[in-house]
Amino acid sequence: MNKPKAVFREINESYTLQEAIAEAKRCLNCKNPSCKKGCPIENHIPEFIHELSKGNMGNAMAIINEKSNLPAICGRVCPHEKQCQGHCVLYPKGKGIEIGKLERFVADFDTEMKLIREKLPQKTRGKVAVIGSGPAGLTVAGDLARQGFNVTIFESQAEPGGVLMYGIPEYRLPKQVVRQEIEKIEALGVTFLLNCVVGKQLNIDDIFAQGYDAIFIGSGTALPKSLDIPGAGLRGVIQATYLLHMANIYNEGTVGRDKVPVIEGEHVAVMGCGNVAMDAARTAVRMGAASVTIVYRRTEADMPAIQAEYQAALQEGVKFLWQTSTTEFLGNEDGKVVGLRANTPEGVKEYAFDRICLAVGSRPASRIVSTTEGIETDDNGYVLVKERPFGMTSRKGVFAGGDVVHRPQTVVMAMKAAKSVAVGIAQYVDAVKLLSE
Ligand code: SF4
Repeated sequence: MNKPKAVFREINESYTLQEAIAEAKRCLNCKNPSCKKGCPIENHIPEFIHELSKGNMGNAMAIINEKSNLPAICGRVCPHEKQCQGHCVLYPKGKGIEIGKLERFVADFDTEMKLIREKLPQKTRGKVAVIGSGPAGLTVAGDLARQGFNVTIFESQAEPGGVLMYGIPEYRLPKQVVRQEIEKIEALGVTFLLNCVVGKQLNIDDIFAQGYDAIFIGSGTALPKSLDIPGAGLRGVIQATYLLHMANIYNEGTVGRDKVPVIEGEHVAVMGCGNVAMDAARTAVRMGAASVTIVYRRTEADMPAIQAEYQAALQEGVKFLWQTSTTEFLGNEDGKVVGLRANTPEGVKEYAFDRICLAVGSRPASRIVSTTEGIETDDNGYVLVKERPFGMTSRKGVFAGGDVVHRPQTVVMAMKAAKSVAVGIAQYVDAVKLLSE
């Protein structure tokens, strides 16, 4: 495997041991910690920071493991300023504790030093299949494996990780970090079946026929949305997720440069202003685009992307057209895109672009639910789930969580939902086993 390309190298460098301990020592170890309230999965933040401040790395890691299966990832990609860090009592004074960087430091230290040897229970509580190995699937798998369930993950791609592996660029989340987190989940006794497309090679009924007690669908939102405007089918109009996927596998050395759909010197427009749009824009910069412009129909204040990503995009030279509502993509006689027409506050305008990336959202693919019976979805394909047992679909024993249920959100929100579903699955399997005794 090749080394990632230099321009894609991780930006946010980590602490040294001395720096991490010094930062941890600034924490007030508050009795009623507001940082914890800001964390969607209620990480025991002051507790792990306190252990770190004393240099007790093993204890710090054990405390983090109680709540998170993916700390090296969360420490890098969570919107900390909106969550833990933004809630720290020291934050309003501009001195908030760098909780994300500390979490990442402990997780990376653990990976390097192999500190933790968890005592695992016998896998006798039941057999659970997990479809998809993105943040939701990995969380359910890790939580259930720690509680004595025998878990197998069915993953359609050649490598596990889902959006973590193929959707988030290397400069934000190095693939080596994803692989190391997955190795830790494998070490909990989770089995991974790769290149296994549920809904094609086998369906939900086949999985139950293999003796599984419950199935979790964590397949995310695989279908990117399009824009229903003239010119959407022109050559050069591509999906941002496709650009991110190809740039990631190019970085890995799996495909050549010619497979990445941004050519050096191109003027690139990105439609949409969420985190995927920021990732696509910053990836286009790294692929040598002459200019990259985000075109957004609303104002800067309405932008769904997190501030840190927006600021980083600005620093890298990405331009923004606010309140610019695209009505048509313009093409030449060869069917290639050459620009767009849009309504702007100054009236109708035309802009020249060589390539257009769509980052206007995604929705679930129907492959899994359409190849079996009894799993209800809403009109947009999102799987409907119950409160009790938490996360169960309209079909008994089939659960769902993450983006396939609640629309695309951040990694940690998918983890939060998945943790509750893991509890629901455990309750369901225990109850069924009790009744059949
Ligand atoms: Fe430490 Fe800030 Fe949390 Fe208080 S709120 S425990 S200072 S991280």
